[in-house]
Amino acid sequence: MEHSNCNSTSSSASELPEPDIHILTSGGFRIPAHSSILAMASPVLENIIEQPRKHRSSERVIPILGVPCDAVSAFVDYLYSSRCKEEEIAKYGIHLLVLSHVYSVPQLKQRCSKGVSQRLTAENAVDVLQLARLCDAPDLYIKCMKYIAAHFKSVEQTEAWNFMQDHDPWLELEILQFIDEDEKRKRRMRRHMKEQNLYLQLSEAMVCLQHICTEGCTIVGPYDVKPAKKPSPCNKYATCHGVQLLIKHFALCKTRVNGGGCSRCNRMWQLLRLHSSICDQPDSCRVPLCRQFKVKVQQQKMGDDAKWKLLVKKVLSAKAIASLALATPKRKREDELRETMDTHHQERFME
Ligand SMILES: [Zn+2]
Ligand SMILES: [Zn+2]
Ligand SMILES: [Zn+2]
Repeated sequence: MEHSNCNSTSSSASELPEPDIHILTSGGFRIPAHSSILAMASPVLENIIEQPRKHRSSERVIPILGVPCDAVSAFVDYLYSSRCKEEEIAKYGIHLLVLSHVYSVPQLKQRCSKGVSQRLTAENAVDVLQLARLCDAPDLYIKCMKYIAAHFKSVEQTEAWNFMQDHDPWLELEILQFIDEDEKRKRRMRRHMKEQNLYLQLSEAMVCLQHICTEGCTIVGPYDVKPAKKPSPCNKYATCHGVQLLIKHFALCKTRVNGGGCSRCNRMWQLLRLHSSICDQPDSCRVPLCRQFKVKVQQQKMGDDAKWKLLVKKVLSAKAIASLALATPKRKREDELRETMDTHHQERFME
């Protein structure tokens, strides 16, 4: 009683001895197979095969029921060849995942876990999540959770979700907790990126400050350096331009001179102080106030408090990271810098 779709193993086994075992699938189909090969590929099948039989003469049959016959056929094919077509994963990925878990075939399980995770939809995500839990497939489990978190609006509308709410409230709680933590994690990540970006800008501002005070740039330069006839923007011009405007403002600001607080001047002041904290050549340095700040710190008139030290440390490490991460598209980085140079992000640290 063989089905044409279900005996594909017999062809791949043409050089092997006669099959000595049959696998019985749902619908009563039989797949002929070799016990030695099944035993080698799956320790669970090995156990079944080695169990003593009641009647020596009786035909050996292993039933694999509850999944479509073609899925069992693909599974047996895998046991013979260690290969599985992508279309079979697409069609029977879930069944093959269960079979590979039950019969302990880790490579196939991994393959299915990956294949199924690539085919998640709002409709199947909850079911696959439950399956991943049952089959002890942690990678797939996480992928499902992430998928549900990202597509919650549509998942919430599905029948599977409603069914799960009624029958497995613990799983619902687990999912909602995951979504909550996932959001917190993303928020932390965004905050971290934003801070990292700020330190990076400060570190660039430090490079620009030194370059402006040493070589001069488009609108500001040291008094003893003649500006180039046609000054061209340097390669960090987005930042450099902002720093130059700040220096010009600092030199001319009346508010500061008259004793009033000026946020732009404060920012410049902090940039100069930050430079001094980082500068390792104060004797030859041309950045204004570099030595004065160092002297003040030495005289402990202006203690380098913990918060300031942390800022200095982070700017230095952002610089180190930036030099490693030059692979980031330059244009994008410059755009981000330009954007943030104009906003008031810095004031958080600069006030
Ligand atoms: Zn410049
Ligand atoms: Zn000012
Ligand atoms: Zn300096």
